[in-house]
Amino acid sequence: MIPYGRQNISQDDINAVIDVLKSDWLTQGPAVPAFENAIAEYCGAHYACAANSATSALHIACLALGVGEGDIVWTSPISFVASSNCALYCGAEVDFVDIELETGNMSVAALQEKLAIAKQNNRLPKAVIPVHLAGQSCDMQIIAKLAKQYNFKVIEDASHAIGAKYKDKPVGSCEYSDITVFSFHPVKIITSAEGGMAVTNSAELDKRMKRLRSHGITNHPEEMTEPSHGPWYYQQLELGFNYRMTDMQAALGLSQLKQLNNFVTVRNDIAKTYNHAFANSDIVHLTQSDNCYSSYHLYVVRLTRSGIAKHKSIITSMREQGIIAHLHYIPIHLQPYYQTLGFSEGDFPNAETYYKQAVTIPLYPTMTAYEQQLVTNILIGLL
Ligand SMILES: *Cc1c(COP(=O)(O)O)cnc(C)c1O
Repeated sequence: MIPYGRQNISQDDINAVIDVLKSDWLTQGPAVPAFENAIAEYCGAHYACAANSATSALHIACLALGVGEGDIVWTSPISFVASSNCALYCGAEVDFVDIELETGNMSVAALQEKLAIAKQNNRLPKAVIPVHLAGQSCDMQIIAKLAKQYNFKVIEDASHAIGAKYKDKPVGSCEYSDITVFSFHPVKIITSAEGGMAVTNSAELDKRMKRLRSHGITNHPEEMTEPSHGPWYYQQLELGFNYRMTDMQAALGLSQLKQLNNFVTVRNDIAKTYNHAFANSDIVHLTQSDNCYSSYHLYVVRLTRSGIAKHKSIITSMREQGIIAHLHYIPIHLQPYYQTLGFSEGDFPNAETYYKQAVTIPLYPTMTAYEQQLVTNILIGLL
C-alpha cells in the first residue's frame, strides 16, 4: 500500500522523546520554549506560541486579535474545516472567498471584489485567514495591502507550509500578516504527533495567546490586578483553555525541525518528477507562482478534458490497486453543518469545480523512485 503521506521518525527523534520521559518534566518544562524559540528563529519571526494543535492555535489567534460575537471572518472554502471553525468558536460569523482554480488558493481578485461589496454593506471582515494550500503561499503582499486598505487582521493558516518560502522569506516571517499558524499533525511536513504553533512579531499578541492557551492565567506580577499574595499566587484574568503542548511533543518537534529543509528539498524533487511525468496528459498540477517555494505538503493534480468524468472512478481504482489517492478538500461550505448556517451549492463555483477535478497523489520523503513510477503509471493508465 502506498499512502498519500507518511511521517518520517528517526532514531534521533525517538531518543529526544525518551530523554524527556527520563527528565523532571513531561509538560511545562524546557522543551516547549526551546521548540518555540527554534521555530521563531527558523521563520525569522519574533515570537512563537506552541499549542496542542493547529486548531487550538487558530482559535487563540482569533481571540488574541479580538475576534468575537458580531464579527465576520473570511477564509478559503478549500481547506480543512479547522480554518473556519476557529472563528465560530469565538462566536463570530464565517464567510468564504472563492479560490483560484489554478492554485487552489484564495483568489485575491475575488477577495478584492468581495471587500468592495462588503464595505458598501458595512459587512467588512474583522479577520481574513488565507490558507497556503498544499504548501504554496497565497499572494500575501496583495492580501496585506488589502488588509491595510480595509482594516482587517490576517492569520495565515500555514498548516501545510512550514519550510515554504514567499518572496525569498520563510512562510511564518509574518511580514504580511499578524499571525501565522503551523500544524505538526503526523500527515504534515514535520510532526510533534499532535501540535501546532502560532508565530507573530507582536509581543502583545504572543503574550495574549500564551495566556489563553493556559486557562487565561498569569504568573506575572506586573499583569495582576493586586500585589501577589505569595509564591503560590496566580490570577485568572480571562477565560482561557488548556491548549498546552507537552514537552514530549515539543522534543519530537524540535528534533524533526532539524530535518525540515531536507524533507522539503526531497518533496520538491518528487514533485518535479511528477510534473515531468504528467506534462503531456489530461492532468494538470497546481501552478506554482515565481514568488513561491512550496513545501509540497501535498501533490495535487486536477483532471482535465475526458479525465473529469472519471474523477471518482480514478480515485477508487487507485485505492483498489493499493495507492491511497485522496481529495483535499471537500468545500467547507458544502459540509452539512455549514449548510445549516445558510451556505449551499453554487455559493463558491471555483471551489466546487475544483472538488470535481482534484486528486491528491502520494508524496512523502521516503517514497522510492519505484513507488513514484508505479503511482504515475497507474494514474496515467486510468485516464
Ligand atoms: C491539518 C490542518 C489544520 C488543523 O491542524 P491540527 O494540528 O490537526 O489541528 C488546520 N488547517 C489546515 C489547512 C490543515 O491542513
